[in-house]
Amino acid sequence: MIPVSASTLDSNLIGKSEHSTLSWQQQMAQSFKSAGELLEFLNLKPADLPYSIDDSQPFSTRVTRHLASLINANNPYDPILLQVLPTQQENTDIKGFVADPLEEATANPIPGLIHKYKNRVLIIAHQACAMHCRYCFRRHFEYQQNNLNFENLEKIRCYLSEHPEINEVILSGGDPLSISDNKLAAIISTLNTIPHLRFLRIHSRTPVAIPDRLSDDFINLLTNQRLTTTMVVHINHPNELPEQLKRRLLSLKAAGVNLLNQSVLLKTINDSADILIELNKKLFEAGVMPYYLHMPDKVQGTSHFYIDHTQAAEIWDKMQRELSGYLVPKLVREIPGKVSKTWVNPTHESEY
Ligand SMILES: *Cc1c(COP(=O)(O)O)cnc(C)c1O
Ligand code: SF4
Repeated sequence: MIPVSASTLDSNLIGKSEHSTLSWQQQMAQSFKSAGELLEFLNLKPADLPYSIDDSQPFSTRVTRHLASLINANNPYDPILLQVLPTQQENTDIKGFVADPLEEATANPIPGLIHKYKNRVLIIAHQACAMHCRYCFRRHFEYQQNNLNFENLEKIRCYLSEHPEINEVILSGGDPLSISDNKLAAIISTLNTIPHLRFLRIHSRTPVAIPDRLSDDFINLLTNQRLTTTMVVHINHPNELPEQLKRRLLSLKAAGVNLLNQSVLLKTINDSADILIELNKKLFEAGVMPYYLHMPDKVQGTSHFYIDHTQAAEIWDKMQRELSGYLVPKLVREIPGKVSKTWVNPTHESEY
């Protein structure tokens, strides 16, 4: 993150409507970093809320002003607020909810690289995210040991060169869009030198926190290189997709970048077919095709977001009945040790 000097931080610029006049780095720097700050901005008092806040969580609060401006402060169950506000429920310990449910630590051959599936690898491009989602499955990941420095990038290049079965590299995190375009360019140009690589994928939730991160410079960076590129945005609720983000996504698409979305199915946030139906229509209007609807992982401290299979399958069934086929995401979960994500079967019996 680029540090912002005091002189560039004109307090008049921090108001709700003008936040986008700041660079994305400035917007990142001006995030709310505690539940207290966020609630103050929203004019809410902890005592007004029907649940208890826990501002001492080691996985800290992080909310950009753009994201905060999308929250309806009159609704304590606002779907964006609940995704970013740390509550006492995170201290509930439930059997089966563990720190590393995906067992990623066992598929980590080089710091910064996860190779679980045959043809594709995941690069942890950066540990930080522009927002901290309370349900995050990487909230306990050992990021310190997975910093992508120059030395590790060279090791990753060697590893990829020695594995011709790998044709796609996925930049993930944390969030890969937390790093500068220069650093991204360095990673992407390294990948471009490996002849058997064909596809580049970027998974990011930063556009939800800071739509301006999808700048023209960033778009140029993705289009002036050899690999066929897909951006997978992580949008869970239609409220996360205002006009401003839609415009940036359409620019990205017009430049030739494929756009997909993955959502996590989360209790009280989007555990409703109607909400997800609206989300997928809105995504399509923004040039984004549905990819995955993820079952939540059993991560320690996130049990209050968990949805079971029966309910998930019912939601998915309704989506399938009411959406055009191409707008129905695959309902999947991740089971450690499997060769890919696992499709979750819907409830209804085959009709033939
Ligand atoms: C999810 C995931 C991928 C990508 O899987 P797709 O099904 O192709 O989206 C790759 N590597 C790891 C470690 C993953 O968790
Ligand atoms: S942006 Fe993704 S990786 Fe970062 S906190 Fe949210 S869910 Fe986790």
